[in-house]
Amino acid sequence: MKKQKICIVGDGLSGLMTVLALNKLEGLEVHLISRKNKHSKDRRTTAISTSNYEFLNKVIGKLDKKLFWPSKTIDLFYETKDKNMNFLTFNEDSKNLMYIFENDKIKKILIQEIKKKKIKTFQKNINELKDLDGYDIKILCLGRSSKIYQSIVDKRSLNKDYKEIAITGYVKHDLKNLNTAQYFLKDGPLAILPFSKNNFSFVWSVDIKFPKKDINSVIKSKICEVLKTNKIQISNQQSYPLMLNLKRSYYKNDILILGEGLHTVHPIAGQGFNLVLRDINKLQEILKYYTKLGMSLKSTPALEDFTNNRKSENIITGIGIDLTHNFFKQNKLLDPFKETILKNISKNNTFKKISKFISNQGLSI
Ligand SMILES: Cc1cc2nc3c(=O)[nH]c(=O)nc-3n(C[C@H](O)[C@H](O)[C@H](O)COP(=O)(O)OP(=O)(O)OC[C@H]3O[C@@H](n4cnc5c(N)ncnc54)[C@H](O)[C@@H]3O)c2cc1C
Repeated sequence: MKKQKICIVGDGLSGLMTVLALNKLEGLEVHLISRKNKHSKDRRTTAISTSNYEFLNKVIGKLDKKLFWPSKTIDLFYETKDKNMNFLTFNEDSKNLMYIFENDKIKKILIQEIKKKKIKTFQKNINELKDLDGYDIKILCLGRSSKIYQSIVDKRSLNKDYKEIAITGYVKHDLKNLNTAQYFLKDGPLAILPFSKNNFSFVWSVDIKFPKKDINSVIKSKICEVLKTNKIQISNQQSYPLMLNLKRSYYKNDILILGEGLHTVHPIAGQGFNLVLRDINKLQEILKYYTKLGMSLKSTPALEDFTNNRKSENIITGIGIDLTHNFFKQNKLLDPFKETILKNISKNNTFKKISKFISNQGLSI
């Protein structure tokens, strides 16, 4: 039987992973379309859950474990008047809670795999959907805000401009046994993500009006203060505007949106790519089911099944992250009670167990 053709447009983490995941299915010919002009480097790290790490391992096979820094402990701190209060610690002695990787290094591995598997790759800038004629299914992984989405989905998506930026960077240090941590500071949440023995990355989400003057020394002194050290070197600093965008429609006819374009969430909980990986896993399962039946994908409800399976988890998670963000944002009325609320949370083992479970598996139980 003639193979069904699928094209994936966009070579960010979502596009590259989708290409490799779908290429595993018999009966499909998968093509990657990426932009002609080389884009800027992605100097970020990404934290993924254990279940998503296992999925990545299954898709790529023989992953170089050295590229994934495991984390057994995650500490959460809240900045009070006189100290950073450690209100919650997630810990596993026997298992890892998450893995942290450098985006550029993993993209390179994914591209090598695509070449090794001889998957056809075309370099062109897609401006209109008719550029994709001839494919049975078209999957757009064009990032958070491509104009092309407007012709596919209605305007009723949930939108919010946080009026914040995430400042990211790499830090070289000589601290011993540094844990993954999130500090809910007055200026905004600061995540510390170790990715090797002497390096961690940080993501500090701050108001867009945050001091533009001397920003480098402000960041350095805050990190030194939080980690109680004065020996750090910062490099690879970048910044990203922050927004919430949760689409309500995911597809039109034979065109599907995937990745940041479906759900852009605040990085406070490190969930964006985790949701994408669960989406890709589900899409792979649904397309496998229909292709095994020998059906033409165009005539099946595959994209509708995908939407029904994933939309509620994506929307609930996005809103949950937004509520968490709101809770920790400075608020004159709520601030006097936050310390007590967080102290009570730290005593609640059921809360800990549920949070750990959801961040690993998502909500699709
Ligand atoms: C500061 C920050 C920290 C984060 N940390 C985490 C974390 O710890 N854990 C986690 O799970 N998630 C995290 N995320 C989310 C994560 O980074 C994204 O989910 C992930 O990078 C996937 O992005 P993407 O591939 O969907 O989009 P992008 O990376 O934006 O890729 C889109 C691609 O499409 C291409 N493209 C666009 N238009 C066209 C066109 N017309 N034709 C052809 N190609 C086109 C672009 O060139 C690009 O390569 C974080 C996000 C931010 C902002």
